[in-house]
Amino acid sequence: SPSTFDAIVIGAGAAGLFCAARAAQRGVKVLLVDHAAKVAEKVRISGGGRCNFTNRDLEPRAPQKHFLGENANFCRSALARFTPTDFIALVQKHGIPFHEKHKGQLFGDRSSEDFIRMLLAECEAGGVTRWQPCTVESMAFADRTYRLRTSKGEVQAPAVVIATGGLSIPQIGASDFGYRVARQFDLALVTTRPALVPLTFDGAAWAPFAGLAGLALPVRIETGAKKERMAFDEDLLFTHRGLSGPAVLQISSYWRAGQPLRIDLAPGVDLATELLQAKSRSRKLVANELAAWVPSRLADAWVQQDAGLQRPVNECSDKALQQLAQRLQAWELVPTGSEGYRKAEVTAGGVDTRELSSQTLEAKKQPGLYFIGEVVDVTGWLGGYNFQWAWASGNACAEALGER
Ligand code: FAD
Repeated sequence: SPSTFDAIVIGAGAAGLFCAARAAQRGVKVLLVDHAAKVAEKVRISGGGRCNFTNRDLEPRAPQKHFLGENANFCRSALARFTPTDFIALVQKHGIPFHEKHKGQLFGDRSSEDFIRMLLAECEAGGVTRWQPCTVESMAFADRTYRLRTSKGEVQAPAVVIATGGLSIPQIGASDFGYRVARQFDLALVTTRPALVPLTFDGAAWAPFAGLAGLALPVRIETGAKKERMAFDEDLLFTHRGLSGPAVLQISSYWRAGQPLRIDLAPGVDLATELLQAKSRSRKLVANELAAWVPSRLADAWVQQDAGLQRPVNECSDKALQQLAQRLQAWELVPTGSEGYRKAEVTAGGVDTRELSSQTLEAKKQPGLYFIGEVVDVTGWLGGYNFQWAWASGNACAEALGER
């Protein structure tokens, strides 16, 4: 006869491990399964191996500000009930040293392994049973019970939590399992797309910039018009195929195919005025003057696009200088695409939040079936927000499991 648990959590990543631990510590008999041999591979590679585990700047009154999805307010309840401060307290309890890097982003001082050990210790403390590698072959629901056929035998429970994450980085275990389960139970999905991902440009159109690969600089980047407009002040990185860096990763989550990006390569500077002033007092080459405001490789690349600018600044027309300023401060370009799930940090879209309770993450029309973490149509900004959603949604679900 099948083994019986109070809850089966599928996916031992950030959300699944945390939810399993919190539920088990509330007395729930939990089985945690993962098809990968190693748990939490994404935690391991996160934050460049140091894990940007949360962000101190989550707005307490409006935590949804740093998240996107069809219903941005959905994530509010869970985020309000489990805050960055709550997670920081746990990290401190485990004696893990950390520091703030940039804009509230908290990273471990040593390695993301610290956080994996912490999550496993929390599971252990609750007595979570773990099966891995273990594949779930099928899942059926009858008489208020979920029956799973797995590579380690049959198992049943009145509650199942789907924490299998998104589609990004398939080489370390990402799968569409969660979306398939949603479809099996007739739950709507929001079309998925790679997010927090480098953007690429057409080969020929990109040729003038390909030589800038490796160059990084602070910019203001925007996409969308009117109400949809979104802007970030972050670093931009030129790559061989296009653009990356935090500025582009952030904007990629909001960018839609065919839409232009607008980039100010000298934010906070009025380049037209500066160049006209330079003209009145200097005989240096335009590229040299420009290098006071932007990296010289960038200055060279822009000046090279126009023969009229390859001369001393005092010999340029006002109009040519104004146009140069415009091309640098309102650089408009349309990406051809993105680097895709292979390089995306997260998957936008997923299980439609209208199908779920924002309090418990339970499917409204499928009792006992919960979805947490990235599989849900809640996507955080770069900077620790995606893990905070994993912790908070895992916690909300664990509370609900404890009350069943
Ligand atoms: P995951 O952590 O992806 O866990 C899903 C688990 O489910 C995995 O263990 C997987 O093996 C398992 N699984 C999948 N399919 C099946 C199946 N069919 N059967 C059984 N098990 C299955 N976010 C931050 O906040 N800060 C960062 O610093 C950060 N850095 C990142 C760096 C990279 C390179 C990447 C790719 C992502 C990064 N993220 C970061 C995003 C963050 O890792 C994810 O948003 C987060 O891990 C999502 O948690 P999750 O538990 O929902 O999914």
